[in-house]
Order: sequence, then C-alpha cells, then structure tokens
Amino acid sequence: MTPKIAFFSCPSCESKNIGVISTHRILSTLETVRYRKCRDCDHKWYSVQPPEIPVEKWQVEWSQDFKDKVKILGTKL
Ligand SMILES: [Zn+2]
Repeated sequence: MTPKIAFFSCPSCESKNIGVISTHRILSTLETVRYRKCRDCDHKWYSVQPPEIPVEKWQVEWSQDFKDKVKILGTKL
C-alpha cells in the first residue's frame, strides 16, 4: 500500500521524473511549499504539503528490518 501523497506527476506532461528546486516552510501555517521542476519537459511549478498530522501510537507499526520504515495503519480524518 502506497500513500497517495507520495506520488506527484508533472502537471504538464504527467512525467514522474520530478526534481525539487527549493523547499520553504510557511511558519504561520506550517505548510511546506516546494518549487518543483519536471526533468522531462522543464515545466516548473509549486506544490504545497499540508502540515503533518499527529497520529496515535497504535496507528504506527514499526518494521522489524529498518527503524526508519514505518507503516501508518490509518488516520481518522
Ligand atoms: Zn513535464
């Protein structure tokens, strides 16, 4: 299962070959704004990532192989 938010595609050519030029954090809203560039067609645009959502401990399942790999079981949104 892959989170939808991890997938971005170029608004112009729908390529997944995308780079990040710069990243800015808006302190008032805690949103993350990224300036992105498509490596295929050179289209540039901004994307906004909403603030992180706190989840309960039981919603997070840690992988036994890698400490930094976690699985979010679900959020009540
Ligand atoms: Zn493109």
